[in-house]
Amino acid sequence: MRIYLDHAATTPIDSEVWAGINQMALEVYGNPSSIHTEGRKARNLIEEARKIIAGHVKCSQGELFFTSCGTEANNMILTGAVRDLKVKRIFTSPVEHHCILHHIEYLKHQYDVEIIWLPLDVDGTVAPPALEEVLQRYPDRPALVSLMHVNNEIGSMHDLQVIGDICHRYNTLYHSDTVQSVGYHPLDMSTLPVDFISGSAHKFNGPKGVGFAVISNEFTIAPLLYGGAQERNMRAGTENTLGIHGMGIALHKAISSMDDRQQHMQSLRTYFAEAIRKIIPDAYFNGRNDTLQSSKILSANLPLTSKSSMLLMNLDIAGIAASGGSACSSGVESRSHVLAKLQVPDDFVTVRFSFSGNTTFEELDHVLSVIRQIYS
Ligand code: PLP
Repeated sequence: MRIYLDHAATTPIDSEVWAGINQMALEVYGNPSSIHTEGRKARNLIEEARKIIAGHVKCSQGELFFTSCGTEANNMILTGAVRDLKVKRIFTSPVEHHCILHHIEYLKHQYDVEIIWLPLDVDGTVAPPALEEVLQRYPDRPALVSLMHVNNEIGSMHDLQVIGDICHRYNTLYHSDTVQSVGYHPLDMSTLPVDFISGSAHKFNGPKGVGFAVISNEFTIAPLLYGGAQERNMRAGTENTLGIHGMGIALHKAISSMDDRQQHMQSLRTYFAEAIRKIIPDAYFNGRNDTLQSSKILSANLPLTSKSSMLLMNLDIAGIAASGGSACSSGVESRSHVLAKLQVPDDFVTVRFSFSGNTTFEELDHVLSVIRQIYS
């Protein structure tokens, strides 16, 4: 039996999503750009998914663009903001996902954009007064703030309303990487002061290789990919029809069960954290202690011992999948950029446990017994 506690890296595809994709796989094969019946069937499937997803994030259908993943959506938004909206300065934090950090490094070299690093609290978030102080200090516009909603490694969150209000008060565009929060937290783009967000189906039990960007219709940007008129000229390339269809089903299911899942994951997280502390009194946790902490993620710092130095591997051998940093940096020996910024001491090893609505207390009890053995 395997126990999967790495849902922040990716989630298993939901059986209803899989069934929905399968049902259409043989039936709907036309190119969505073709005008014949087969093509129109595929187009309908895509537009149906657009309606569902736009309905759940409360944007207009014209503001939603399908992409191949969250990384592409974030790249598209950031490049568009700089190249087309003439953003000259980007304010961001050093604990964003690499798809933000590496892309803005590229923008710095390619477009001479200035990057301003926002000061980080010990909980891994930027405090609103600190953001305000920096925006006041750098008044030149156009500028953009890029601050994620839920941090993928430690689960600390920014309040989109509060951060967005400050950005707009200082006439600054606001992009939030919401890849970890779509399907887990309500996102209402019709009222939130957020101009751009991104999503990725594989984080909410949808298929891999499909995501989306929401771009407020106040702004017009050019595409990242050229060569076709798909996505209203915003993303060339034949659409991933079945993936988009699956993403629609997955998001609908995730939103329908969101409150129950949140409550369950919150109970799991509290139970697990307390139990770890009982076994290892020196253990402590990254992230926040208030409502701005994702219940999906528990990032635990555990004292380094001869047995715990290979903790992730030992957990894996015992049938438990957890993670040390972000999935993108797994396999790399060095400590993740997020944990490095949080200054986790070298004599601690960090494990990210990330839960789902289907994780059980029995599974956690088993993980605890393995941890107990490792620390005995
Ligand atoms: N942003 C965050 C916060 C993530 O956690 C991830 C994936 O780990 C991404 C972006 C990239 O998403 P994708 O894997 O769909 O490219």
